Amino acid sequence: MRWCVVLTVLCANVVKLQNVVFRGGQCVTCPDSSSLPASRRRLSVSAHTMAANCIFCQICGDNPGGTELLASNEDLVVFRDIKPAAKHHYLVVSREHITDAKALTSAQKPLLQRMIATAEQVLRDQGADMSDTRLGFHWPPFHSISHLHLHAISPTSDMGLMARIVFKQNSWWFVSPEYVMSRL
Ligand SMILES: [Zn+2]
Ligand SMILES: [Zn+2]
Repeated sequence: MRWCVVLTVLCANVVKLQNVVFRGGQCVTCPDSSSLPASRRRLSVSAHTMAANCIFCQICGDNPGGTELLASNEDLVVFRDIKPAAKHHYLVVSREHITDAKALTSAQKPLLQRMIATAEQVLRDQGADMSDTRLGFHWPPFHSISHLHLHAISPTSDMGLMARIVFKQNSWWFVSPEYVMSRL
């Protein structure tokens, strides 16, 4: 019996992890969802819609929700995390839809360097304590949103128990920019 599985994890946002099954908007578990029973087709369709309608691509594009951009250039945008883990919590997002940090190639080293520099610049601009910051990427399959984004958080001493778990540096699920750079 084929049907889609949407994993959920406890995250700062308590969000659905769909990328395990829905790679690039294509469901790898049930590519022909029309053969599914109605109840399961509904689940499949809603999950497909979520994967096809990438919220971060929308913010980088028309930005229909009017998300405030703290920085924007030809390949990156920066905005606030909707569930901040500390006083300063920003997302540096590539304009290009790259699934995650693991998908980066050596040719994208300069992009990664610009993401790090932009994260530090925005933290500085916003008056964050630069002696107490954390930068990091989700590591697959533990994405919240399947679109590359660098979390920039400060001060880490503000972080609650759940945030300390979700954004635990160099865990299975959240890694430092240095780690990502070392793989390229
Ligand atoms: Zn996207
Ligand atoms: Zn995230």
